[in-house]
Amino acid sequence: MRHRGQFTRSERFARSRLAKLVHEQPFLCGSLVPLNRVCGKEGCKCNQGELHPGLCVALRVGEKRKMIYVPQALEATARRWVSTYQKAWRLMEEISQASLKRFLKGKEKVREQRKAKIGERRSHG
Ligand SMILES: [Zn+2]
Repeated sequence: MRHRGQFTRSERFARSRLAKLVHEQPFLCGSLVPLNRVCGKEGCKCNQGELHPGLCVALRVGEKRKMIYVPQALEATARRWVSTYQKAWRLMEEISQASLKRFLKGKEKVREQRKAKIGERRSHG
């Protein structure tokens, strides 16, 4: 393994926050979708079209995309778990951007080495 010193301070920070999140918190790779619904009770206003506000979480279950209804008692939990995923995603993006910078630097180096080699060949005939 390479030394941690290769990372900038902000990248190190993002990495440790990501590790902590993933290590400690449950998360759902999905998004919250408001979805009004009918409760099914006889005589309720929802039967006249005044629907109850509800919440679904849209996510993949195996290969399929699904909308899973969130009961009110679990709304806070669903919001927290989706928000943890979004935070982790943003940190992943941050680390990816930093990695991309390193990758492009590596590409630049390869290009310079190739140029130097061609130059050498030319000067030696
Ligand atoms: Zn109702």
